[in-house]
Amino acid sequence: MLNQLTISELAARLVKGETSSRAAIQACLDQIQRADGQIRAFISYDAADALAQADAADKALASGSADRGRPLLGVPIGIKDVIAVKGQPLNCGSRILDKFISPYDATVVQKLKNAGAVVFGRLNMDEFAMGSSTENSAFQTTCNPWDRTRIPGGSSGGSAAAVAADECIAALGSDTGGSIRQPASLCGCVGLKPSYGRVSRYGLVAFASSLDQIGCFTKEVRDAALMLEVLSGVDPSDSSSAPQPVPRYATGLTGDIKGLKLGLAREYMIGGLEPQVKQAIDAAVKQLEKLGAKIVEISLPHTDYAIATYYIIATAEASANLARFDGIRYGQRVAGADPIELYSKTRGAGFGAEVKRRILLGTYVLSSGYYDAYYLRAQKVRTLIRNDFLKAFEKVDAIVTPTSPTAAFKIGEKADDPLQMYLMDIFTISANLAGICGISIPCGLTKEPKLPIGLQLLGKPFGEETILRIGHAYEQSTNWHKERPPLKA
Ligand code: GLN
Repeated sequence: MLNQLTISELAARLVKGETSSRAAIQACLDQIQRADGQIRAFISYDAADALAQADAADKALASGSADRGRPLLGVPIGIKDVIAVKGQPLNCGSRILDKFISPYDATVVQKLKNAGAVVFGRLNMDEFAMGSSTENSAFQTTCNPWDRTRIPGGSSGGSAAAVAADECIAALGSDTGGSIRQPASLCGCVGLKPSYGRVSRYGLVAFASSLDQIGCFTKEVRDAALMLEVLSGVDPSDSSSAPQPVPRYATGLTGDIKGLKLGLAREYMIGGLEPQVKQAIDAAVKQLEKLGAKIVEISLPHTDYAIATYYIIATAEASANLARFDGIRYGQRVAGADPIELYSKTRGAGFGAEVKRRILLGTYVLSSGYYDAYYLRAQKVRTLIRNDFLKAFEKVDAIVTPTSPTAAFKIGEKADDPLQMYLMDIFTISANLAGICGISIPCGLTKEPKLPIGLQLLGKPFGEETILRIGHAYEQSTNWHKERPPLKA
């Protein structure tokens, strides 16, 4: 079935004329029909638009224009509901953007279209990307394809579930504190968060601008390399995008990692790690050693402060970014006697509880009298956390960690306990504070129920080539990435 293929498999068949883009998108739409009633990964999708894009791709394929410049020609890619696609809904999982249609394409979407991809679907997410389970979506909770009583992770849970359930070939997500890597881990796919500045954020609705980064969900590491090459590069519309050259990431996947040094952080050997997760990570580390990597113990001494630092900086930035949703410019409006009443009624009705909690917290830490004690101090600690990583990377080429301390938990299990939920990000959050890159790769399954476990590799700023190379070598020496959730055909 075409929807089960990877990007490289599908692209190869399309170029050889063995199949068509229309058949590929139709296979995805059929799978959505079959499976998405239970998974609920898609908030919506525009089948007619997707088929029209596929027909255009088929025309281009027939005329032989599938050259190096269009590596994704005809490949269906799903989009998280926080990334703008011209003419399509842009809700960010929130009621406040009810019926809002994006007037323009995000830079990444333009790049995907230029590369020939069929861009389709609005993938479910926690409201404004705040959460770790998709339970904060105003529309629906997405279910984990491996066990539908469990969460798929978040905030990009829709993207992860859709890729794991073969409803699209790959997907875009965003990662502010782990929102690509954690759901990828919990759903059993590959999730890549590029370094800050690697990929343009233009057209990504901002949650915390200094932490947000767009990345991809794929079925194998090679596809992540292909996607990253398309997505990367400086963009005049995003002044935080970096003018670093874009490597040909896929050509670096040599399978050879002999002599590379991998760091294990002392501070990450925490209690609270699920025993089966620990076993899987230990086995993965052994496997990496077998492939010729050297394991080195490192220290990231400020790890304990990462979650607190993140929840000050992220909420501060969110409170400023979300001020634009005032009922005047976008989406929903609730009338009021004067502008202040209109704002507060609109925001009161439009935002969900977690978003309100974060706006309150963020406004508080920025308020006069508390700014120095919280926000400014958090910024200083952030620098210490970044310096921990930079120092570690003087000794090692990459750092190995679990992606998430546990496998997927039950829907509702942590919904009423935000602090428990925040702890799910313990291994992912520091990478965003430090601006470094990270990837999550399937490395095992728990027993009864069978649930995916993810291995995280963290790399230097703009060190994506190295973590892709290590991830690919590991993946190709195991079969974990080939495991599929037990969905009914
Ligand atoms: N789970 C984290 C949060 O709730 C990270 C979210 C994200 O990366 N967007 O903020």
